[in-house]
Amino acid sequence: MVVASMAPAGAAEHTVTAAPSDESDALGTITPNGVFKPASGYGASDYEAAAVKVTVSGPSTMTKNATYNVKVTGSSKVCGIIEQSVPRQDMKRPYTIPVTLSDLKAGSSRLKVYAVGCSKTDSYPVYGIGYKTISQPVHIGKVTRWVAPASEKASDRKLTVSVTTAKTGVTARLVKGTKTVRTLGTRKARKATFTWAPGKTRPGGYAVTVTSGGTTVRVPTGIADNWAPMNPPFARCKTLTWSYNAANEPARAKNMAVDIKSGFNRITSATGIRFKRVAKGGTISLTWAGKKHFPDGETDADGLGGSSGNGVVATKGTVWFNTASRWVGDPGYGRYDGVPGRGALIVHEVAHSLGLGHVTTTSALMYPVSGVGSPTSLTRYEIAGLNSLYNAKSC
Ligand SMILES: [Zn+2]
Repeated sequence: MVVASMAPAGAAEHTVTAAPSDESDALGTITPNGVFKPASGYGASDYEAAAVKVTVSGPSTMTKNATYNVKVTGSSKVCGIIEQSVPRQDMKRPYTIPVTLSDLKAGSSRLKVYAVGCSKTDSYPVYGIGYKTISQPVHIGKVTRWVAPASEKASDRKLTVSVTTAKTGVTARLVKGTKTVRTLGTRKARKATFTWAPGKTRPGGYAVTVTSGGTTVRVPTGIADNWAPMNPPFARCKTLTWSYNAANEPARAKNMAVDIKSGFNRITSATGIRFKRVAKGGTISLTWAGKKHFPDGETDADGLGGSSGNGVVATKGTVWFNTASRWVGDPGYGRYDGVPGRGALIVHEVAHSLGLGHVTTTSALMYPVSGVGSPTSLTRYEIAGLNSLYNAKSC
C-alpha cells in the first residue's frame, strides 16, 4: 500500500503478515493433518517446517457438554492447542487431551483444532489443524468479511454470510439487539449466501441471525464504528509481553523507550489490556530497521506494525521503526507546531500489532497519515475497537 506523504511524513504504515484464513497464512502453508511449510520472506525465517498432526474424535451431533478427544502428534515439541471455543491449553505427554464443549459457538458446525508446536530451539510456533464435523440444525458456515465501514480497504466493507441448513428455506437478517435492521434475504434452499455492502459508517453492535426450520442462530458481525479489524487479536485476558531492541536506534530518537513504555501504559489505562516489559523476545517486539527493510512503496513509512498467528489468534506482534524517520526525533505525546509527537506513531503501530487496521476516519489514530491536528494518542475509536477485540476490563 502506498503511503501518502505529508509533513512531517507522518505516515504509519502496517503490513499484514498473516492472512486470517484456515489453511494458509503468509508465513507458510498449513495442511490439515499435515506439514507446516514456512513461506519465504518477511518474517518467515522465524518459523521452521514441522509436521503437527491433529485428529479429533467424538460425537457427530452437537450436544451440551460433549467431550471430544484431541490427539496431537508431531515432529516438534507440541506445546499447546487452540480451538474455536476452548482457550489454549498446555499439552503434556501423551499428547491426547479431552476437550469438553460446554457451549459450542452458535453457528459452528465444525470443531476445528489448531495445534501449536513449539520449535526445539525457541518459542516460535508451528501449526497443524484438525477438524471434526458436528451436526446442527442450522449452521452459519462463515462470515467471510468483517464489515468495517470506516476501513480503508474496500474488501473489508462487505459482509458475506454462507449458510447451510438441515431444512429447505432460510432467512438471514442483520439485527441490533432484538431489532431487525435489515433482512439480508430469504432463499428456498438448504445452502445460501447473503452479501451486504453497508456503504457508509454505522455504529457498532450488529449481529446476523439466520432462521431455518424454526431454529435461529446468531453471530456477531464485527460491524464497527470507525475502527477496522486487521489480523486476529491475541488471546484475551493474558498479560502480553513486549520488548524493545534499541540496536540501530538513531541519536535523535533518544529516550524512545520512555515513550514506548508510556504508550503501552496509555493502552492499559484506556482498555485494561495488560502488558509487561521483558528484556528480549517479547510477544510484541519493537525494533529498528532501515528503509530497505520496508516493503516496496512503503519505504518512506515511519513505522510498520503487524502480527502473525494461525488465523484464529495472533501469537507474535512486531513493530519496526524506520531509522530514516524524522518523526522519531519529536519525543512524547505533545504537539510540534500542531503535529503529534512520536508517541502517536508508537501507539498507532502497537495498535496494528494488537489487530487494528487503517480507517478512513481522519480524526482516528488509525488514519494512515498524521499531520496538523491529528490525534496524539488513542481516540475513542481505537478504544472501542480494542474493547471489542479484547474486552479486557471484564478479565
Ligand atoms: Zn498504520
